[in-house]
Amino acid sequence: MHSKIVIIGSGPAGLTAALYAARANLEPLVIRGLQPGGLIATTSEVENYPGFPESVGGFELAQKMEEQAARFGTKYMDALIESVDFSHRPFTLTTDGGEQVTADTVILSTGASPRKLGVPGEEELANRGVSYCATCDGFFFRNKRVVVVGGGDSALDEGLFLTRFVDELVIIHRRDKLRADPILQERAFANPKVRFVYDSVVTEVLGDDKVAGVRIKNLNTDEESILETDGVFPYIGHIPNTQVFTGHIDMDDGGYILADERTRTNIPGVYAAGDVVDQIYRQAVTAAGDGCKAAMEVTWFLDAEEHVPQKTQEEVVPSTA
Ligand code: NAP
Repeated sequence: MHSKIVIIGSGPAGLTAALYAARANLEPLVIRGLQPGGLIATTSEVENYPGFPESVGGFELAQKMEEQAARFGTKYMDALIESVDFSHRPFTLTTDGGEQVTADTVILSTGASPRKLGVPGEEELANRGVSYCATCDGFFFRNKRVVVVGGGDSALDEGLFLTRFVDELVIIHRRDKLRADPILQERAFANPKVRFVYDSVVTEVLGDDKVAGVRIKNLNTDEESILETDGVFPYIGHIPNTQVFTGHIDMDDGGYILADERTRTNIPGVYAAGDVVDQIYRQAVTAAGDGCKAAMEVTWFLDAEEHVPQKTQEEVVPSTA
């Protein structure tokens, strides 16, 4: 299978890239990956994506993006990319099913995954009380007590979603100041179901066949205590899903792909967009903006090759200066 442009990942970055590439008649192929729709599809309510004054469900938003890109000719493949060869063009991508896809250009938009606590019991009790998706699993915790770990937007946003179901939500944060938006902080402070445990970390998830509690350590006093709980939702940031590209493209020490402000990586014809490059903003709308830029860059790049092969990309692409 060959495509002029293959987009790896189907979050807001990948789907916006697909929309723009499709409208440029490039017939893009999107490799959906492990989490179709990306992280936004696991988000309960999205209140800050322009155009949705009443807010929109994350899954619904992702679906709308997918449909919009499909309308102009985007094709989708449900697969994971297991290896890449960027050493020569066309680039070769191999899926988990052993299928080889070749591409004239590639946009890397594989996003990021929730960071794990890395404590005993977390892995053993995953899906048995430990969850990284309040939207998916909140319902199972009706009238229970659950713990959310973290003090950022995700912790408060998803925690507040959980209060629709649970009797008590305990937010455990390693400092005494939250990182989350003031508006989310106000809502959490005003919610009678929410309680905060500050200056503390979870050191162990307890339970035999399902979560029964967490061991907590106070970082000021080193004192340990046990809190009984039915669920643990870690929301302590993300790590970029770039392991498969290691050694094939320039990255920083944290595994983020290095791309310039025009989404170009060190390999001509390979672009990167969204959470794989962004350590600062990490919003659906900034990822979508990146995806748009990457698709426009691809269009100019292919156009330059097709119509004016004697010119370099720099000479053909409009200057941003
Ligand atoms: P984040 O902003 O990086 O926050 C991670 C939180 O986890 C921080 O409070 C951090 O503590 C804590 N943390 C990190 N490592 C930890 C560890 N090992 N143990 C205990 N706690 C740890 O991540 P996020 O909340 O997932 O947000 C990511 C991005 O998505 C942000 O840009 C955010 O604005 C965006 N987002 C936006 C919305 C929204 O607009 N509604 C919703 C979700 C996410 P410290 O504070 O001490 O560093």
